[in-house]
Amino acid sequence: MAELEPMRLVVVGAAGRMGRTLVRLISEEPAFVLSGAVERPGSDQIGADAGILAGLPPLGVVVTDDPLPVIAAAHGIVDFTTPDATLAYAELAAQARIVHVVGTTGLQDAHLARLAACARHCAVIRSGNMSLGVNLLASLVRRAAQALGTDWDIEITELHHRHKVDAPSGTALLLGEAAAAGRGIALAENSERGRDGITGPRRAGSIGFAALRGGSIIGEHQVLFAGEGEQVSFVHRAEDRTIFARGGLRAALWGRGRKPGLYSMVDVLGLPVD
Ligand code: NAD
Repeated sequence: MAELEPMRLVVVGAAGRMGRTLVRLISEEPAFVLSGAVERPGSDQIGADAGILAGLPPLGVVVTDDPLPVIAAAHGIVDFTTPDATLAYAELAAQARIVHVVGTTGLQDAHLARLAACARHCAVIRSGNMSLGVNLLASLVRRAAQALGTDWDIEITELHHRHKVDAPSGTALLLGEAAAAGRGIALAENSERGRDGITGPRRAGSIGFAALRGGSIIGEHQVLFAGEGEQVSFVHRAEDRTIFARGGLRAALWGRGRKPGLYSMVDVLGLPVD
């Protein structure tokens, strides 16, 4: 079988934190070629070399605010931008029938419905946490919750840097959803957040959350299953933000040649869902 040419990727949001990381990783990986770098109209990085923005020597790819020509010549778009921008790129990916990797968070139901409509025409892979380790962890948590009865209490703790403004983290909620799915219950009706004061005994079958904040911790999540006389705990530590970009690139490669549909990192990793 003839070898595939390297996958031509367009990074949208190329001047952002994730965009710059993606540009750097793409340039290091022979399976990919950076074929375009797009920013929002009005960005003062338009016209800059994407390599220089990423702290590399020039790559000869100039940041543009005109996505059409670069998308027409690409195999995929890697998108860590904003919900509205992601919808606009979803339409373009659908027209061009190329892979769309969506790492953008904060998508509301209306965004998700339109994204699903676009996914009828191309492969869209979306996850609020593209890290391979967290997605593996979610799958393990789901299986553990299924295997261990409700007499095992589930507590999810997360640690993040002092600048984080929301709690529990989206990833803690993703892990809570996985535990709830394993138990066949709805998380919304069974979660306990932030105990304080005279709380009474623990509510049987609930899933507890606690958040710690401090220093420069990138992100640590623990899911504890506490039974009578024994405990099992799962821990994920993010050491570097490149884990999200690596996951996004793995998703892009996986999506190449894939039939249209809305996929997740669970699909990319081939993790069992039952
Ligand atoms: P950032 O603000 O540093 O970067 C976003 C970039 O998108 C900016 O440069 C902005 O100018 C650009 N942008 C906005 N509108 C655009 C448009 N129409 N076209 C092109 N570019 C546009 O943010 P970030 O830290 O890189 O994160 C970006 C998104 O990715 C956020 O939603 C964040 O929560 C999410 N994120 C997801 C994961 C994951 O694993 N899924 C990991 C990290 C961040």
